[in-house]
Amino acid sequence: MAVLRIHTFPDPLLTRTSERIAEIDGRVAGYVADMVETMYAANGVGLAAPQVGLLERAIVVDTDSENRGLAPLCLLNPEVVEAEGDITWEEGCLSVVDYTAEVQRSARVLVSGWSVDQEEVRIEATGLKAVCLQHEIDHLDGKLFLDHLSPLKRGLYRKRLKKIKRSGELPDDGVPRI
Ligand SMILES: [Zn+2]
Repeated sequence: MAVLRIHTFPDPLLTRTSERIAEIDGRVAGYVADMVETMYAANGVGLAAPQVGLLERAIVVDTDSENRGLAPLCLLNPEVVEAEGDITWEEGCLSVVDYTAEVQRSARVLVSGWSVDQEEVRIEATGLKAVCLQHEIDHLDGKLFLDHLSPLKRGLYRKRLKKIKRSGELPDDGVPRI
């Protein structure tokens, strides 16, 4: 297993649409294991394959703060099949340096996908887990949480990013990155 480099905004790779995984084999299981290791090493609660430079539809999620590391959820070709209600959540992202913002998403989702053992999986989620699943599936479609914000807020972030890059400082605000 290996810790992979995480691509960050404004890397154009993050705006591309990922391919469906046609065959779940050892190669896929291998990079999914690397993604899990990378997510934990970066202290994130979720990670999507394009964030580590792979344009394939794979995500890993672990929102269980009490049993962290015990059962990471690894989903291939995930799709939201049911969504209802609204929830607003303060989101951060491992690919968006030093910025968080409130994003509105569905409050409950049913997500279908496949495990690395080639089994069909259905996950029902609410709260942070629902937010995280929607955020990661967005990554597979080339979308960041910034794309849910107004152009004004996005512009402010671009300015702030320039400032951060000049100063080289990364403040820690305690919001989980997904
Ligand atoms: Zn993210």
